[in-house]
Amino acid sequence: MSAKKAHFIVQTASAPDPEIEVLFSADQIASRLDELAESLAKRLPSEIVVVPLLKGSFMFAADLMRMLHKHGLTCRVEFITVSSYGNDTTSSGELKISSDLPEDLVGNIVLLIDDILDTGRTLHWTHDNLLAAGAAEIVTCVLLDKPSRRIVPFEADFVGFTIPDRFVVGYGIDYAQRYRELPYIGAMPG
Ligand code: 5GP
Ligand code: MG
Repeated sequence: MSAKKAHFIVQTASAPDPEIEVLFSADQIASRLDELAESLAKRLPSEIVVVPLLKGSFMFAADLMRMLHKHGLTCRVEFITVSSYGNDTTSSGELKISSDLPEDLVGNIVLLIDDILDTGRTLHWTHDNLLAAGAAEIVTCVLLDKPSRRIVPFEADFVGFTIPDRFVVGYGIDYAQRYRELPYIGAMPG
């Protein structure tokens, strides 16, 4: 290989963003997802409906579904977006689904996926709404759990990683719409 080509390879290698403290590397995430999918496959029937909450869980859901396939599951996917009424600084805790509720949930086993379980409001509320829409059973799976932040009592059935009260980004999770593309999960400084 010529020196010119080698130089090009060095330039395109991705380095971690220096502002972000890496909490879980891409390899750690991949091996934890394999374990999660193995456990989920034991708990769930072979055909399920996966309901990921956008936007934060899109990358987690995509990788987890590939792992579920590896462990023998067949998935239908229905994305939903849940948002709060009011502005960000005075969260009233009132939520709304800003996309249509998935159709044909009646009688289905749903795997409800979110990026982060924080106060518990989002998953508690979404869980109840999907049950009201006719899901036979809802199993919840989150990538990250911050139990110290809980306000509404809610525990996920499956958790990727339990973390302290840090603001995290990467692997689909943003800060002001940035950092979603990072292949690792990191914490913002402070
Ligand atoms: P909660 O459990 O409080 O209803 O909300 C969970 C949602 O809050 C997550 O889906 C996520 O959108 C947001 N959230 C909680 N903690 C963090 C964090 O550390 N970083 C980011 N980007 N979002 C967070
Ligand atoms: Mg979210």
